[in-house]
Amino acid sequence: MKKYFDKKETWTKKERRLKQDFHLSQMVQLGYRKSMSLKKIFDAQKIKPTRIKSLGDLEILAVTSREKLVEMEMQKVPYAGLENSSAYIDRIFTSPGPVYEPHLSESDYLWARAFFAAGIGPSDIALNAFSYHLVAAGLTFHNGLRKVGATVIPSGTSSSQIQVQLIKDLKVTAYVGTPSFLMSIINKAKEMGFNFKKDFRLTKACFAAEPLLPALRQTFEKEYGIDTYQMYGATEVGDVAYECSQKNGWHICEETIVEIVDPATGKNVSAGELGEVVVTRLNEIFFLLRFGTGDLSRLIIEKCPCGRTSYRLAGIAGRVGDAVKVRGLFLTPSQLRMISVEFNNLPLQAIVNRQGHEDILKLRLEKIMPEIGSSKWEQNFKNTFREICTVKIDQIEYVNAGIIGPQEKMLVDQRQW
Ligand SMILES: [Zn+2]
Repeated sequence: MKKYFDKKETWTKKERRLKQDFHLSQMVQLGYRKSMSLKKIFDAQKIKPTRIKSLGDLEILAVTSREKLVEMEMQKVPYAGLENSSAYIDRIFTSPGPVYEPHLSESDYLWARAFFAAGIGPSDIALNAFSYHLVAAGLTFHNGLRKVGATVIPSGTSSSQIQVQLIKDLKVTAYVGTPSFLMSIINKAKEMGFNFKKDFRLTKACFAAEPLLPALRQTFEKEYGIDTYQMYGATEVGDVAYECSQKNGWHICEETIVEIVDPATGKNVSAGELGEVVVTRLNEIFFLLRFGTGDLSRLIIEKCPCGRTSYRLAGIAGRVGDAVKVRGLFLTPSQLRMISVEFNNLPLQAIVNRQGHEDILKLRLEKIMPEIGSSKWEQNFKNTFREICTVKIDQIEYVNAGIIGPQEKMLVDQRQW
């Protein structure tokens, strides 16, 4: 147990800052010496590598989006010149673009913390249903599973029928893959005449690459007795965060520095505010500083009841391009969907407008039940809304059931700029 729930995960704030700042400055200085492109970036801005001493100093560098990285790689094939020119590279993966990624060493902890937090260990037989073909997912999840001692079946993208056969014959206990694929495996098992809960031993699932919707999570857990965990990362930077048994936020891997920034300025937002997840992976091979994931999230800095002190991400609230800013705070369609689900799939629509210099947020809600609109109900709704979206509602308009069509946008920005 001690091996993966290690000192790093229980660092004090001061320890975390000191160790990460030290590694960051080492990485930047090494990168400046070994990567042509990083040297160019620093020289063009007349920044000395010794200027980056701590996390706060990163703000002087621009955020690099996935699109920007593709562009840089097209100009300089294969790694945009961001690699360590004298490092030994274990593996090279690709992601759409194409982008080529010289990968972290096979001895790296990648994903092991996530699997450990999900309770996976030597007694598990894990089905790894992520693709092993060119992309990073299959092999990196495989390595993480091996690091915690689990036996791995590299089933990859085999058909759901084959996956069912493997789960049955090899007495699989854990699934690693996307939630939607697990659902199709369960459906296929039903079709083949099995009772998934009674006939099989699969009781744990670790998901990545797709959002896990609360309703689907509930189905897995309640109907099929599968304990579910979410993991979050990107090929460009590796594992970023993972859920623990509390399932209340994702612990950030201590090998990465995560900033939550305003995508328009690249500056860090105030604590607890929604912003873009920007990741710098501390390593000696690929010097990608401030990678902009395009995902929106919030930081939770309070200690988790599980004992880990690492900071957490409050899930992913949407993509930068889909978000609308209301009084300086982001609002996203996926947050609205969460609220709708919370209130029995209540059809709703948020409209942002402007009166004078003020943003006005109006919510249109369908009266699908008689209690909707009572002051008690409204207060409860407003509280939940504030919890999930941080921003306050200014007006509520109740409309008859069936008025807000399913094809209508959930979030409408009517402001004229
Ligand atoms: Zn925790």
